[in-house]
Amino acid sequence: MSRASVLRSDPAEPRREPAAGVSPLSQYVLKLTSRCDLACDHCYVYQHPDQSWRRQPRVMATATLRAAARRVAEHAAAHRLDTVRVVLHGGEPLLAGAAGLAAAATELRGHIDPVTRLDLRMQTNGVLLTPEICDVLVAHDVKVGVSLDGDVAANDRHRRHANGASSHAAVRRALALLRRPAYRASYAGILCTIDLDNDPVRVYEALLAEQPPHIDFLLPHANWERPPPRPDGVATPYADWLLAVHRRWLADGRPVPIRLLESLLSTASGGTSRTEAVGLGFADLVVIETDGSFEQVDSLKSAYDGAAATGLDVFRHGVDDAAAHPMIAIRQSGLTGLSATCRDCEVVRQCGGGLFAHRYRAGTGFDNPSVYCADLKELISAMAGTPAYVPARRQGADSLSREVLDDLAGGRGGEGSARQLASVHVAMVRALLVALSPRAGDDPVAAGGWQLLVDLDVTAPDAVRAVLEHPFVRRWAQRCRDTATEDVSYLACVAAAAAIRAGVDAELDVPVHDGALHLPTLGTLTVAVAADTRTARLAVHDAGFDVRVDGLHHRVRVDAAAPAHWLPARRVRAGGRDLLVEDTDPYRDCYDLPVAARLAAADAVRWTGQLDRALRRVDTETDGYSPGLRALLRAVVPLRPDDSGVQRSAAAGAAFGAVAMAPAPDDAALAVLLVHEVQHLKLDAVLDVCDLFDRHDDRRLTVPWRTDPRPVEGVLHGTYAHLAVADVWRHRSGPAAAAAFRRYRDWTDGALDALLGLGALTTAGDRFVRRMRDTLDSWP
Ligand code: SF4
Repeated sequence: MSRASVLRSDPAEPRREPAAGVSPLSQYVLKLTSRCDLACDHCYVYQHPDQSWRRQPRVMATATLRAAARRVAEHAAAHRLDTVRVVLHGGEPLLAGAAGLAAAATELRGHIDPVTRLDLRMQTNGVLLTPEICDVLVAHDVKVGVSLDGDVAANDRHRRHANGASSHAAVRRALALLRRPAYRASYAGILCTIDLDNDPVRVYEALLAEQPPHIDFLLPHANWERPPPRPDGVATPYADWLLAVHRRWLADGRPVPIRLLESLLSTASGGTSRTEAVGLGFADLVVIETDGSFEQVDSLKSAYDGAAATGLDVFRHGVDDAAAHPMIAIRQSGLTGLSATCRDCEVVRQCGGGLFAHRYRAGTGFDNPSVYCADLKELISAMAGTPAYVPARRQGADSLSREVLDDLAGGRGGEGSARQLASVHVAMVRALLVALSPRAGDDPVAAGGWQLLVDLDVTAPDAVRAVLEHPFVRRWAQRCRDTATEDVSYLACVAAAAAIRAGVDAELDVPVHDGALHLPTLGTLTVAVAADTRTARLAVHDAGFDVRVDGLHHRVRVDAAAPAHWLPARRVRAGGRDLLVEDTDPYRDCYDLPVAARLAAADAVRWTGQLDRALRRVDTETDGYSPGLRALLRAVVPLRPDDSGVQRSAAAGAAFGAVAMAPAPDDAALAVLLVHEVQHLKLDAVLDVCDLFDRHDDRRLTVPWRTDPRPVEGVLHGTYAHLAVADVWRHRSGPAAAAAFRRYRDWTDGALDALLGLGALTTAGDRFVRRMRDTLDSWP
């Protein structure tokens, strides 16, 4: 049944054709409640001129919710929208309680999911968040944004209860709940309203400490009639405040996406804005109040009483009618909807005239620049030159979307899903480096590396990313986190490698261990040094780099003949893709099996040839595993050969993107091992950000592929890998292939039943395993 036909089959709700000339709306703020348990004095709903909340029912009735859900679905189907975002809002939506939220989510998903992808969110003050509610949020895939204005002093400047009591501790409790592995998938980020009396860096630090997947800074709602507070004599205090955050954010290596700054960087290079606060993107958003009336964007309530009203409601009008309302349509008209001043402004494509509500002036309405015009101009010009940010955590550390998890759970996982996992990996490395930065500050060599890396992250972000993506940089960073004795000065090697890749002039001290200086992704320089020599001086220039140590000078030219004691990383072409045969990195020994030493030239040629043939087999004889494998696999680590005759291979969660292999008897066997180990990489990356099982459950299961009982994680890993291996054998012909297929299928079948019957899976884990079961059951 097609999506559209689901709607057509409902006789009570005939499908509507889109109104001609209407730009569709894809974002909805749904007011589940119209009251709040806090009394924040900067709130635009209760403390500003519009007092229409007094006329609203306290809670949205079921019939209203159903009508709203139908309207959203009807509009999405008529305009064939790929996705629709609904934000549960208030008042305070948590006042609806666990049952009310579950009912709302069920109603919305019941109508909208069959038609389009529903991105369901909630914006809350967090005070009433409980584990019971978090269970509901996870079960219904609701992402939660929490409002917090900084540390206790900053937050309680405005965000207090009606009796003046602090809300800070309760909000932090809510954030701690959302950080729990079981609920982390629902943690969307923090929304912070700027107050000039709060120190910007302290606010930023307080928010960062809550490990949010996103931070959003909001300029306080104001307009030309009610201008924002400005200290005497300061022309652009809000720009100054945000630029202080921006400087610190850059120095930290941008550990978390900040939506406003990110949007300005994105629009500077021709990209899109991710917030209605800046940019020329269409503001395709409408509010549905608790009584079912359509209203314009909420922030208009800061302008005048009734400013947000449209006179339309979900019972009598479709979303097309709301979209055609002049005040909503004008927000969708881009440049033409702006004042003449803005249209002539040199930064209009980034600024977009600021937030619509901030343009209001009695007499001219919204035909004005933003009341924050001077701040926006200053902010934009001061940020010029900062390269567009590819947010480290957009796809990632916050969570993987349900679509990506479903795609991966089916066994294969397409290229897009694999790329999201890779982004998760880079985000984890960045977070590790930021966590290491205080320790790096105590080590002069590491400190030099940290400063260079931070600079390169601004001037050469691609080179930095290429090094951070390297599997064993994360392994080193994790060891530093877990072991006080691990050498933090290797950070200088990470930075030097990025500088060399970028061809950027730089000079710094780098550590030397046992006569070897390793540069991740590039290679190892072996040098003769005195027993107590710990550092060398490395100078990068556009042709390569020079190393001076113990009075000797070593010159390595990237594109010319290198000295014999320079062991370059083995970058090979195999299966039509670039790959590292990693046999020098000092952090590659992260497997239970011993790794091989540097390969002899002939062995390297043999490895390359076999990898090339095996990867081509993966391309041609597996059904759908090649795109994910292509996107994920960066390095193959040769394991030390032995005479046991047993096929040996490994993957490690700390080394995302690398698999380790002993020489395989033939290309077909190597192809199976590659698919098998990449499944482990995929599952490890999923488990980095999404708990699929209860980690406190220490029960063990007997599985047919091992003699020893396995923990839940081990069974999950084995099952996921064997599902793929069975699929590979399923596509091979001959009696041996058929027997292998049956064996792996039966192993997987039994393990899936065991996992589903154990009661140790989380909601996400149960869904993940059932998807694996669907794949297996689909085989003839
Ligand atoms: S900086 Fe001022 S004039 Fe320029 S687009 Fe923004 S609000 Fe309009």
